[in-house]
Amino acid sequence: LPLNPAIDVLASRALSSPAKPLKEFELIARLTAGLPRSRRTILGPGDDCAILAPSAYPQLVTIDSMVEGVHFKLEWTTPEALGARALTVNLSDIAAMGGRPTAGVINLAIRAGLDQGFFERLYAGLRKAASAVRVDVIGGNITRATQLAITIALLGEARDGAMRRDQARVGDGIYVTGTVGDAALGLRLLQGSLKAAVAARRFLVGRYLNPTARLAAGQKLVRMTPRPAAIDLSDGLWQDLGHLLAASRAGAEIIAEALPLSDAYRQVMGDDVELACTGGDDYELLFCMAPRLDEAGLSRKLAVPVRRIGTIVKGRRAILLRHGRPAGDSAGRLAGWDQLRDAPP
Ligand SMILES: [Mg+2]
Repeated sequence: LPLNPAIDVLASRALSSPAKPLKEFELIARLTAGLPRSRRTILGPGDDCAILAPSAYPQLVTIDSMVEGVHFKLEWTTPEALGARALTVNLSDIAAMGGRPTAGVINLAIRAGLDQGFFERLYAGLRKAASAVRVDVIGGNITRATQLAITIALLGEARDGAMRRDQARVGDGIYVTGTVGDAALGLRLLQGSLKAAVAARRFLVGRYLNPTARLAAGQKLVRMTPRPAAIDLSDGLWQDLGHLLAASRAGAEIIAEALPLSDAYRQVMGDDVELACTGGDDYELLFCMAPRLDEAGLSRKLAVPVRRIGTIVKGRRAILLRHGRPAGDSAGRLAGWDQLRDAPP
């Protein structure tokens, strides 16, 4: 066996780009140059481990992967947007706990057919997104694979405690930030299974390709008393609500008419809320708390539009009410997007 099979493979056959053959060490050095690092990072990339200064706060840890053919297709996106999105999906998990992201490590699975320019652009997008939220990129690994995949493990600080999924109580209002269903609709526009006017398409596709994590709203929510239960909307409202209900051992009534839909969503789907319930990738926050503030008050406090979409009830099921009548439940047709079950895009 070669001493280091990973490097051996990369150096010999690596990526078949005629213009710029890739060398792993060179790539790592080029990609990690200029990545943001604060004083909390004692030692950045380049050694066996990075070294972080101790933190005064409880640490949040999360990890997420984006795999070509499962989570994205290269013809839909720019490398920059892909890099930024890989970080955002992790930031959203930190946001859902009310934390502050601090540092991350990246694993890049690379395949043949992509040149150095591609990875430089991917890292440029990642670097910009990390700088914007002051995340230190403290290390990375590159491995050869048959599909491109970007995996990021992200650390955060829970300075004000953490919002968990198991804290919803009967009688709590159920709230969401922003609008739901846009990203799923954007994905279907990219896939060509639906059509939209130019402006609506631009908005919806943008919501899919360039999502934002609700970090500031999460950090404000976690300081409220009593502390809300929360989850981020990555797999679809219905499925993510289901996770929260299971953890809290509670049920929910959701009012179809109350779901926050964007103008672009309504232009394409009218008042059909199925995609808003089942579509993923919105990266909005869903939270539950005693309904003391109205929507306007909460929206002001969180500096983001907030809509109350229902109530936590006894039992274990979520029921979607349309005109006051059940339109679907958690045992029925509204099963969320399940990435283990669903076919690739
Ligand atoms: Mg999540």
